[in-house]
Amino acid sequence: MQSVRNESPASQTAGNESLQWRPALQSLPQYVPGNPGRTGTFKLSSNEMPFPPSAGVIAALADAMHDVNRYPQMHSDGLAAQLATLHGVDAEQVVVGNGSVALIELILRSIATDGDEVVYSWRSFEAYPIAVAATGARSVQVPNTASGRHDLPAMVAAITPATKAVMVCTPNNPTSTALTHSELVEFCEQVPSSVLILLDEAYWHFDTSQDRVRAEELLATYKNVITLRTFSKAYGLAGLRVGYAIGRRRLMRQLQVAATPFGTNALGQIAALAALRDQATADANVAAIIAKREEFVRQLQTQGWQIPAPQGNFVWLALGDRTQEFAAAAQDAGVMVRPFAGEGVRITIGESEANAIALEIAAKFAPPQ
Ligand SMILES: *Cc1c(COP(=O)(O)O)cnc(C)c1O
Repeated sequence: MQSVRNESPASQTAGNESLQWRPALQSLPQYVPGNPGRTGTFKLSSNEMPFPPSAGVIAALADAMHDVNRYPQMHSDGLAAQLATLHGVDAEQVVVGNGSVALIELILRSIATDGDEVVYSWRSFEAYPIAVAATGARSVQVPNTASGRHDLPAMVAAITPATKAVMVCTPNNPTSTALTHSELVEFCEQVPSSVLILLDEAYWHFDTSQDRVRAEELLATYKNVITLRTFSKAYGLAGLRVGYAIGRRRLMRQLQVAATPFGTNALGQIAALAALRDQATADANVAAIIAKREEFVRQLQTQGWQIPAPQGNFVWLALGDRTQEFAAAAQDAGVMVRPFAGEGVRITIGESEANAIALEIAAKFAPPQ
């Protein structure tokens, strides 16, 4: 059926002045996805795992796809129960979502709005400024230290009566530095209990530092902590979009009410359960990436680079104004990395061949010895 007063598509988007998004949504920063590159190039730009899903995951998916005419479990109850066992918490303390980014959005819009503030370190995960701006709240970005770590005392000092949440990313994307458990305990002690501490542990499995964060202990002690994990990184299921949050029962009950109904798709739930049953494969993959990362860092050091120990499945080179030049050189050599203009590049640890190419480029940009 044709309606009579259709405007042209161009004027509908550009010229329709009666329909407008909230001002906060008109100036959102844009999320830049890792460049997939041309066919035949390696993608070291999105912190994905280079391994295909395990046979167990593929078999579970093949089996489950016959049932996708049915809705999935509304709250991913089966998966939440397994995750609760894994973390030694109650199932009511776990909220599963469409990737942990969707949970960040859910949590922020549940707690912050116009006039509020959300504090986080910068540079950190580029989804944060977008998720904060979408709520109408203001981002308060506390600069990283010179070595790319969160400046926790400065973050505490940035908290005002308007602050609703403070976000902590460890290991931090994109600088790959990790905070210690004791640092976080001190931090949690100082953050007022009325301020939510949102801990993003997307890369926890890759952290080999001594005194690695023990979120379960923080959750048991501090009522205002929520921690976030994902199946996108260590479990290699980025394409299926499954993440989860753990927190106090009362908080999580409120979150569940505000969550998208059936927000995690059936195949994602099934694959995540299969990946948990096959934890040994995930552990072996993580161990392989860590070994490659350590070798990568040794090579960088031989080239003259001095970088803080990376604890994610990626390495950060603070190239400053040579960032774009490096990214272009890597692309020409067949490897996509993730540049942050004027700051540095993030290089995912991936296929050995790709890592070797990235190292060849790094050698050309190494600081003079
Ligand atoms: C990759 C990543 C996530 C996970 O995102 P998903 O939506 O679960 O894929 C969360 N936080 C950070 C810092 C990340 O880098």
